[in-house]
Amino acid sequence: SKENGKNGYSFFNVELSQEKIRKMTIENALKKAVQKNQFILYYQPKVVLGTRKIIGMEALLRWQHPELGWISPVEFIPVAEETGQIVAIGEWVLEEACRQNKQWQDAGYPPLSVSVNVSVLQFKHGKFLDTVEQVLKKTGLDTRYLELEITESIMQNIKESKRILISLQQMGIKISIDDFGTGYSSLNVLQKLPIDTLKIDKSFVDELDIDAMNPMVKAIIDLGLNLDMILVAEGIESENQMKVLIEHGCTIGQGYLFSKPVTPEDFEELMKIPELM
Ligand code: C2E
Ligand code: CA
Ligand code: CA
Ligand code: CA
Repeated sequence: SKENGKNGYSFFNVELSQEKIRKMTIENALKKAVQKNQFILYYQPKVVLGTRKIIGMEALLRWQHPELGWISPVEFIPVAEETGQIVAIGEWVLEEACRQNKQWQDAGYPPLSVSVNVSVLQFKHGKFLDTVEQVLKKTGLDTRYLELEITESIMQNIKESKRILISLQQMGIKISIDDFGTGYSSLNVLQKLPIDTLKIDKSFVDELDIDAMNPMVKAIIDLGLNLDMILVAEGIESENQMKVLIEHGCTIGQGYLFSKPVTPEDFEELMKIPELM
């Protein structure tokens, strides 16, 4: 119980403090991660369901620490959010993704849109719009090739979020709602925001293996289609999931069925194949 924990000598408490030590270690290591070039972006293709033609990619952050090894974003992103370090890290991610995409386009690869994950904290940070503008200017990437993935939690401060989203839209940037259906979403508000894409969370895609007619998946797809949004299903692992999604009217997807997130070098190889097998 909590009371025991406060005494400080139970096994339970020892475990808790190890968790705390791990968190503090990560927090400390994060401080130098950008400057020590420990971050790298992997890219996962976004494909047309059925033909498997690559039409975009999502940038996913990877961190390798010399002593701690590879640390998953599932572990370090929440720490970075808690400490505010996510603002600087997110800025690095945005610039690197835009720089890489521009470099690929200049090298003659077919122009693709890059999707960048943006933490709510970063989104609400006063300088976010300036940062996006500066990064696009610095890297020279055409704004139409950038999409920002944000979660439903932006809807908790709707007025401010709307202002930021409209500015981004005016710049020509696409907006995607990530993990759609898992968070706080006011459907009434959804239709008033300039949102281009809904990403159907993997948890719903998984459900399709149990029940192909899962009503939630169908409802999300119909909602998106009725609101004139693009639907992207994430975490597709099986042919069956892909088939059902197509039947429901979802046309774009990502997942291990097509490709895991890969290094920039490997992504170049993928771009040379017109359709992923
Ligand atoms: P997310 O944005 O929902 O990204 C999808 C996650 O699912 C990625 O995990 C991806 O590798 C994984 N995934 C894709 N297809 C499949 C599949 O078919 N099966 C399975 N099992 N997994 C699949 P990853 O790269 O570990 O990222 C986890 C989360 O960390 C992301 O979830 C996102 O919330 C966060 N994240 C990653 N990179 C960034 C970043 O640059 N900035 C921010 N703010 N968050 C990031
Ligand atoms: Ca995402
Ligand atoms: Ca997700
Ligand atoms: Ca997410």
